[in-house]
Amino acid sequence: MATTQVETHRNYIGGKWVESVTGRTYPVHNPAHTDQLVGEFQTSGADDTLHAVAAAKDGLKIWANTPAPARANIMYKALDIMGRRAEELAETITVEEGKPISDARAEVKRAMAIMEYAAGEGRRMFGYTTPSELPDTVAYTTRRPLGVVGIITPWNFPLAIPAWKIAPALICGNALVFKPASATPHSAVKLLEIFEEAGLPAGVLNLVTGPGGQVGNALVESPDVKGISFTGSTEIGTDLYSESAKRLKKVQAEMGGKNAVIVLSDADMDKAMNGIVQGAFGSTGQRCTATSRVIVEESVHDQFVTELIDRTSKLTVGDGIDPANDVAPLSSQNQKDKVLEFIGIGAEEGANLAFGGRDLMDGDLKEGYYVEPTVFTGVTSDMRIAQEEIFGPVLTVFKAKDLKEAIDIANSVEFGLSSSVYTKDITKAYEYINTVETGMVHVNASTLGGEVHLPFGGLNSSGVGQREQGTAAVDFFSEVITVYIDHAGEAN
Ligand code: NAP
Repeated sequence: MATTQVETHRNYIGGKWVESVTGRTYPVHNPAHTDQLVGEFQTSGADDTLHAVAAAKDGLKIWANTPAPARANIMYKALDIMGRRAEELAETITVEEGKPISDARAEVKRAMAIMEYAAGEGRRMFGYTTPSELPDTVAYTTRRPLGVVGIITPWNFPLAIPAWKIAPALICGNALVFKPASATPHSAVKLLEIFEEAGLPAGVLNLVTGPGGQVGNALVESPDVKGISFTGSTEIGTDLYSESAKRLKKVQAEMGGKNAVIVLSDADMDKAMNGIVQGAFGSTGQRCTATSRVIVEESVHDQFVTELIDRTSKLTVGDGIDPANDVAPLSSQNQKDKVLEFIGIGAEEGANLAFGGRDLMDGDLKEGYYVEPTVFTGVTSDMRIAQEEIFGPVLTVFKAKDLKEAIDIANSVEFGLSSSVYTKDITKAYEYINTVETGMVHVNASTLGGEVHLPFGGLNSSGVGQREQGTAAVDFFSEVITVYIDHAGEAN
């Protein structure tokens, strides 16, 4: 791929592709081949963001008054276009984010399922009626859009996370300013092209690329922005949530994870191993729901570790665009540095580096941000590698004497996003479901994923505000208005 002739992509504001008023752009590179440029993108600032907010205020006037089923018709058109461009979108995701092409294809499918589900909400979006305590009075609830809403997304799902915020927000009649992660703006540009072709009115969906500190802050500070849907790190999300709360904005913040799987001695070991290897190393461990910790009952611990190392050693590492590769590069130099730093910390803390841990520099791999899939055993809850989100292909293994101790270890972190237990014992499964502190709980399945019609989100430092997806998304992106009508006609 040529490094010189790359396209310069623009912001999308008020139905037009425009350059940033800063006059500056920044490059995005392919994490598998860092000499390959994906494109140049606008380095926008606060002024661009405020232009986008003003355009959204205009767009809102039309969109909020468009019947929800008519909004849904545009969503269905966007869905068709996305289907036609599915393979191109998957390749875009892999080339800018790095993940294996099979994961990127699954991400496109997920985005499409979300849009299909959200379009269906255009014909539901229920309120309710209830008897009034007053005579001749009807009481019911109805929904209104929040207004102008900011959408701030991370780089690890550059299409699906924007889609799972934007689709329900649009169906509910909001107008949006979308700020994608600086590392993955190309998928965002393509998503905007899709909605433009589908006929979304000007100003309803605006795209502003550029640094979060400036674009994100301007959204938080603007009094015209009534809500913010954020996904990203706990550090940024916590700050954004508290700054927004001061301004009485409605906010949902989905943040980091340190997801644990418990393997009990009666578990189907093959099933557990499949879920754990995929959960830990799929998408290079860069999923919020990735498996980061495995807590194994002591009677099966050694056998489990032997099998885990065997399975991990067979994973092939390389460019995600080649379907033969299981593990792809990390998404950036920062990510690679952070993962290697944690591997060093784990060794210093006294954990046993049972497999991997190398910075991979052989052959073509030296062109990208590759780190060997890594397994630490002998990990204890007081270690930093047991507590902090690493967000890479690093799995930490703990030994527990029984379910109770395993649950204590699982609950010993500040995060609470996803978790899993492998067991055939229904009583133990329920004990786990009822005591593990995570927003999503799996039994005999990996920590990954979620279905679009069910709520998605975490407890504690993993999430605050209303859940995403399913009907929870409609609750977040709309205001409930309570209506009382006295139809008696005269004073009584
Ligand atoms: P991040 O650094 O927190 O960034 C997230 C978004 O916030 C980016 O668009 C970023 O822009 C923007 N941002 C940065 N500073 C900001 C500020 N001061 N005000 C407003 N916005 C600001 O997170 P990330 O590294 O992109 O993503 C990885 C994290 O996301 C991990 O912790 C992962 O667990 C989490 N995640 C959570 C979920 C979930 O559903 N719970 C799902 C996926 C990922 P720039 O890119 O320009 O910095």
